Amino acid sequence: MSLIVQKYGGTSVGNPQRILNVARRVVATQEAGHRVVVVVSAMSGVTDSLINLARQVSQNPSEREMDVLLSTGEQTTIALIAMAIEGLGKKAVSLTGGQAGIITDGVHTKAKIVNITPKQIHAHLKNEEIVIVAGFQGETTDGRITTLGRGGSDLTAIAIASAIKADVCQIFTDVDGVYTCDPRIVPTARKIDAISYDEMLEMASSGSKVMQSRSVEFAKKFGVVFEVRSSFNNNPGTIVTEETEDMENVVVRGISIEKNQAKVTIRQVPDRPGTAARIFTALAATSVILDMIVQSDSVGDTNDISFTLNKDELPKAQAALNSVMKEIGAKDIVTEEGIAKLSIVGIGMRSHSGVAARLFEAMAAGGINIQLISTSEIKTAVIIDEAKINEAAQLAHEAFGLSGKA
Ligand code: ASP
Ligand code: MG
Repeated sequence: MSLIVQKYGGTSVGNPQRILNVARRVVATQEAGHRVVVVVSAMSGVTDSLINLARQVSQNPSEREMDVLLSTGEQTTIALIAMAIEGLGKKAVSLTGGQAGIITDGVHTKAKIVNITPKQIHAHLKNEEIVIVAGFQGETTDGRITTLGRGGSDLTAIAIASAIKADVCQIFTDVDGVYTCDPRIVPTARKIDAISYDEMLEMASSGSKVMQSRSVEFAKKFGVVFEVRSSFNNNPGTIVTEETEDMENVVVRGISIEKNQAKVTIRQVPDRPGTAARIFTALAATSVILDMIVQSDSVGDTNDISFTLNKDELPKAQAALNSVMKEIGAKDIVTEEGIAKLSIVGIGMRSHSGVAARLFEAMAAGGINIQLISTSEIKTAVIIDEAKINEAAQLAHEAFGLSGKA
């Protein structure tokens, strides 16, 4: 008999039929002889519509009340799932985050879990009940309701799995697992059987959002092995785990792409200490999130500094830069939209050479111009014309032998 945590995302509980489907899956798991703790998200779209409601009654709703409001999304789902399970003749109980013993700090709307006391969960399990916990929420020590940031139900599931030392943690979603690339872009993409935490984090930070990054970081820190799989079929999913030696035999695990990027180049920045600091401090003050930062070597006594960001944030970045340009004595700013980022990710890069060359050759074969390059230990990324991104993904996918069965 295993102790299993199953998390169902918003799409998986998106309507009454799907809630019944989840109830049946959970009951089947219990009937197979396991103890089950279920963590659920709000039904898809509910959190967004609650946010929308808040905006209609207040310009600037307090974060404390936002948390009270948003936590109701998950609270609706736990009750419905528990009812559906009871309707199938099994014992179930719903618990809010606070009731499940999830204690957080007091940073409303993005609270951190400080501690979990799963006393109630254990008591209900002992009583042979299926326990349904509201994801995305917790409580401060002084009893205030908090939420864990968008997508936070994943974190609840991982943290509970860790706290109750579950044997298995399954994250059910609307895709079969993590893919070598987005199958809508690369039709030959295939599901990855196992991926390391670090690869999963890199894939997420470069565009493939299957799970909230914070929850993957948490899983890594506490060694929680979990599986991402579909709630609409019984196919095995992708296991996310500590890296093993044979994972390194695969050079590239997956490719992730990010559209809607923009590039800013500040030309002829005087080459002296403090200029980069001045530029990026001004940008930091606007809290825009920057991605790649590339500085060219100096020519004469200036160099060029480029960075990329989401194109929606371009106006904010530009406004911030206009005020520092004169001060540092740079020549001008050139911006460009219509670019995209392609990243290849794999821990195998640490032990294989020629990986970047192979990627560049694939781009060359398609006549695709590379505008910026950045690398980390387990990732190589290029910025290219957005119109070419699908073709680029297909070429890279082929070049690293990711298509078909590996
Ligand atoms: N309902 C929350 C959200 O939409 C949390 C979650 O779904 O994980 O962000
Ligand atoms: Mg969600």
